[in-house]
Amino acid sequence: MRYFAMQPGDIDPLEPDEVWLRSQRGTYFCPVCSFPQIERPLCPVVLSAKPKKCTLNIVGGAATDVMHIELFELLGSEFKESMETQTVSLSHGHRLADYIAIRARTQILIRGGPSSTAKGYCDLCGNLFYWPLPFESRHLLRRSIEDLLPVYGGSVVALVIREDILNRVPTSQLTGIQIYELPIRDVAEDGLPEEIGTRVTSEQRKRYEELLKRDS
Ligand SMILES: [Zn+2]
Repeated sequence: MRYFAMQPGDIDPLEPDEVWLRSQRGTYFCPVCSFPQIERPLCPVVLSAKPKKCTLNIVGGAATDVMHIELFELLGSEFKESMETQTVSLSHGHRLADYIAIRARTQILIRGGPSSTAKGYCDLCGNLFYWPLPFESRHLLRRSIEDLLPVYGGSVVALVIREDILNRVPTSQLTGIQIYELPIRDVAEDGLPEEIGTRVTSEQRKRYEELLKRDS
């Protein structure tokens, strides 16, 4: 089974409504590290302006992804069942029916080579501050995909998607999206334990205290 990273092709995030963004701080977003709290349900997204052209994009400052409804439908039922979804609206309340806010129900840590940076974790929510380096070294550990889910949330990318799910979509519908394979490896090369994921558990914090703080 092969897996592919999916992320917006351009760095041009959607503009959030600032009032909405502020109102979600400390509830949907962790009050310490500002990342979405994955144990809370995905919140409805409010944008300050209509997306110009967007197949898949991230909401600036919100680390939350928005997908065009046509692509969402093309990816099929198995994909849809693996995602949490929410509405996307404009500041004055108008709902954008062409777009859907998405978050995979299961998150996965994309690993990198020995030069990857691990700068500890958030003391409150356990969010691991990790960046896989170099780019070409990005891969998945076999133990993290044992359940072979159709899709995972990908820490540094929008989605990590199974090949058969991606193949449902004609290439013409994927314009503006960067897609590349994430090889599957058995052994971690970044110096971190293989069991580490996007959130560090309290047990892991005790066990790997020194290792996780090595670059901080
Ligand atoms: Zn946090």
